[in-house]
Amino acid sequence: MSTLEIRAVRHRYPAADDDSLRSVSVSVDDGAMVSVVGPSGSGKSTLLRVAAGLRRSTTGRVEINGQDVSERPTEHRDLTVMFQNPSLFDHLDVAGNVAFAPRLAGVRRREARRSAQRYLRLVHLEGFDRRGVGALSGGQQQRVALARALAAERGVLLLDEPFSSLDRELRTSMHDLLTEVRAAVSPTILMVTHDIDEAALADSTVVLIDGTVHQQAPTSELYSRPASLPTARLLGGFTEVPGDVHHGVHHSLWGRIPVAADCPTTGDAVLVLRREALRLQDPAPGAARGGEPHLPGLAAQVVRRRTAGARVVASLTGDDGTPVEVEMPFGADVPLGARTRVELTPGAPGQWALPTAHRSGTMACREPSRTGAR
Ligand code: ADP
Ligand code: MG
Repeated sequence: MSTLEIRAVRHRYPAADDDSLRSVSVSVDDGAMVSVVGPSGSGKSTLLRVAAGLRRSTTGRVEINGQDVSERPTEHRDLTVMFQNPSLFDHLDVAGNVAFAPRLAGVRRREARRSAQRYLRLVHLEGFDRRGVGALSGGQQQRVALARALAAERGVLLLDEPFSSLDRELRTSMHDLLTEVRAAVSPTILMVTHDIDEAALADSTVVLIDGTVHQQAPTSELYSRPASLPTARLLGGFTEVPGDVHHGVHHSLWGRIPVAADCPTTGDAVLVLRREALRLQDPAPGAARGGEPHLPGLAAQVVRRRTAGARVVASLTGDDGTPVEVEMPFGADVPLGARTRVELTPGAPGQWALPTAHRSGTMACREPSRTGAR
């Protein structure tokens, strides 16, 4: 049983003008995986180093299994860390690397190597025990590093961008492997990454921006309910509609868009709209929406298009000068320069309108509301 609690940690590097972490709290339950996502320089690695005892926080504390370990050195915390660089020991063979921590802990050589073989099987490197690490590919080295971290059999596994040096295919296979490892040995994991898709491997994701936690939620929920404008920008794919909210309705050049009934926001508010919830109006003359009520939307011009997987993403500039992104099925015809109207797709799944407080950058509204024609 292993839990990790980071409580109100503040940290500042010597000679830095500003805190790198500002009262950050993150908790990871036994066997759970929490990811921390944020742009470069947001404090992710610093947070992991504080958790690992490689740096001391100015205030706040770190608890493992309910015990305050803030004063303990790394080796006396029930955890192990894995970094982007596998840093394997060249003078040891593969099994020697994996058996390193158990050997250090006094486990006999033969037993340690047997346990190493077990972990090598778990990362699909059976039969590699006697190989030199220099002869391994980058992906294989990272598998050895993962096996080595697991073989230490500590309660908490801290991962700092563990797969970001690998190409996309290898990264995806490491993601699958991590999921398998979790099912087999369920370590308690805190992973930091700048990759939101990688973050989605976890049960829950913490958004860290400028040393501040903006939100902690399952990744799917981040997309439907980003708690702040910086979070929506980090996730990408949102169109921001400036305007103001009165009595549960957002007013802007787009028209009237209802927001959550329980949303207390009034006054200035930026509505954030997922690009999947927007569509381009059919330009064909008389593509009559016989009797269909006028949908909220904005006249706009197509300025860019690109493919994203099996979808097409069109970037437009609204007549008010604001950027708009719309996602369409592959093959959708969106000529560059075309003038059109962007509108909210009525009843599309995941079509949420999220008011975001304009100045403070934090969302005042907890529950999403379905938007559509009114
Ligand atoms: P991330 O891992 O999210 O990219 P870091 O935790 O490495 O961010 O860095 C957070 C902030 O602290 C950044 O502004 C970075 O420049 C600064 N920083 C990181 N390491 C040091 C250091 N050793 N000394 C001074 N400032 C540092
Ligand atoms: Mg980092």
